[in-house]
Amino acid sequence: MKEKRMLVQAYMVCLMCDKCDGGEMKPTGICLTSLPPQYPHRCDQCGHEETVRGKTYPHHEYVKCSPEVPQDPSASDSHE
Ligand SMILES: [Zn+2]
Repeated sequence: MKEKRMLVQAYMVCLMCDKCDGGEMKPTGICLTSLPPQYPHRCDQCGHEETVRGKTYPHHEYVKCSPEVPQDPSASDSHE
């Protein structure tokens, strides 16, 4: 196995409430063990609850923004 490094852009993905303006859905800490697991979320403003399948919010997503970076950044000062 070997490591591979990629330059990425990170996004934080939040789930906004449908029932109020600007409330954010946060996990209640409960996990329903179905397949996929379901995670109840509750709005931090109005308390509206919604269950999300397979993921929790907020979470991070990474988008690759360049094909490859040289193997090991610390070794990039080459020995020529
Ligand atoms: Zn709400």
